[in-house]
Amino acid sequence: MAKGKVTINELICKGCELCVSVCPKHVLKLSETKINAAGYNPAEPVNDDCIACTACAKMCPDCAITVEKLD
Ligand code: SF4
Ligand code: SF4
Repeated sequence: MAKGKVTINELICKGCELCVSVCPKHVLKLSETKINAAGYNPAEPVNDDCIACTACAKMCPDCAITVEKLD
């Protein structure tokens, strides 16, 4: 069961992939279908394995990531 929920603000994300590389559970991936207004493929969660470690949110240079802890 998921321990955390990660949300990406797709309008802010610039597709730098730092969050993708830092996630220990391989939760995040750049979208292959979505493109935001700035022309970037935003990151998105691809599984329910988030453990709410917040590494991705700390790493994001644009503060585009919110992490919620689930009970
Ligand atoms: S909070 Fe941790 S486990 Fe969850 S998506 Fe971010 S880096 Fe991955
Ligand atoms: S680190 Fe932030 S800006 Fe970079 S891909 Fe992840 S969410 Fe987007």
